[in-house]
Amino acid sequence: MSSSDDEGSGEEYLFKIVIIGDSAVGKSNLLSRYARNEFNMHSKATIGVEFQTQSMDIDGKEVKAQIWDTAGQERFRAVTSAYYRGAVGALIVYDITRRTTFDSVGRWLEELNTHSDTTVARMLVGNKYDLENIRDVSVEEGKSLAETEGLFFMETSALDSTNVKKAFEIVIKEIYNNVS
Ligand code: GDP
Ligand code: MG
Repeated sequence: MSSSDDEGSGEEYLFKIVIIGDSAVGKSNLLSRYARNEFNMHSKATIGVEFQTQSMDIDGKEVKAQIWDTAGQERFRAVTSAYYRGAVGALIVYDITRRTTFDSVGRWLEELNTHSDTTVARMLVGNKYDLENIRDVSVEEGKSLAETEGLFFMETSALDSTNVKKAFEIVIKEIYNNVS
């Protein structure tokens, strides 16, 4: 994260946001939907850590979010501290059709907490809302966990775009409020 004066054009903000959660919950697709409006049914994990930068305007200021996606390391429970370093925002994602991914949220929160030395704006995301007919985790359970842990909460679909932009923008605005 940085904030600096830059002649004439006012302040500039760059916020690092990480996306965490179990394998195959839709992390990569949430990011590609938000940053490029793309969805991939057969997305494969790539090698190495990747991020995408997306800008939004808040109070007439350009705010850039540098959003990091794991490269599939979560399968081996080996997301490194470099991934978390400097993060001021996080989306903790589970799949509403797979309870085990919801059960893992606590572990992801602990890992995030271990690696962060600052206030992190956190959003719990129940993804695959389009598969509501085979839902395995109720909205109430998601909401309740979010309340207990002090997280924002949203159900999303990277497939049909439901709430994807909203989820990222709430986090970005919260970070902005935390630092400005
Ligand atoms: P990651 O391992 O958490 O990065 O998950 P991916 O983004 O690679 O997605 C895993 C699988 O779930 C892929 O087959 C995606 O097409 C699928 N997927 C991701 N998001 C959604 C969603 O919102 N709805 C549905 N139905 N499938 C999704
Ligand atoms: Mg991925």
